[in-house]
Amino acid sequence: MRIFPIDDIRLNAESAAQRLRVADVDLLRRLIDSAQAVMAPAAAFRVGYVDEKRDDGVVVDNVAFTSRVLRRNLDGVGRVFPFVLTIGRALDDIIEARADMLEKYLLDEIGNLLLREARGRFEHHLRSAFALEKVSCMAPGSLADWPIEQQGPLFRLLPKVETALGVRLTESFLMLPRKSISGIYFPSEATFFSCQLCPRERCDARKARYDAAKARDYGVTA
Ligand code: SF4
Repeated sequence: MRIFPIDDIRLNAESAAQRLRVADVDLLRRLIDSAQAVMAPAAAFRVGYVDEKRDDGVVVDNVAFTSRVLRRNLDGVGRVFPFVLTIGRALDDIIEARADMLEKYLLDEIGNLLLREARGRFEHHLRSAFALEKVSCMAPGSLADWPIEQQGPLFRLLPKVETALGVRLTESFLMLPRKSISGIYFPSEATFFSCQLCPRERCDARKARYDAAKARDYGVTA
């Protein structure tokens, strides 16, 4: 397992205020400062190899995953990058300790923005370190085809992630600290987003439009 510390992430208060539709930029700036003072963004990942491709999934480094969409996306792919990325636990503690509901909400959103920045850095690192022109990512729980329980095998590929980053799975396979993401990056010719196969109507985290034809092509039904 490799560790990639993610330094120097800084949010711009004005852009964050615009994005979050917040009028009080000074308040947002103060909250951003307190989040950035405690965050510890880092990714743990490994270079994995696809051992076997089955009808309903793949085997990576002796660990089996069940997902027809993942299987399809890994057609012609031999090397993958299972990962867990977090900005650390301290922000969860700060949010928990706040009494003001607006500040709680804004800190939570700031955590999402920091996580997004950290993910961008990590993705850039993968592309440059492994000479990959384009990468895509799938995460357990993003589609019914690859349910959240598949976090289990993913974490088996990164058994020291709790010691290294402090990230663990709850009984319902959610990650703690909350501001953590996980998944498998893989090289791709065109960028794949699980959102293209997900018909959910209201989702603030949507990254691409739902593509019914593509969903049918992947055998994913709404
Ligand atoms: S649209 Fe939302 S729920 Fe659906 S895959 Fe994308 S981020 Fe997840």
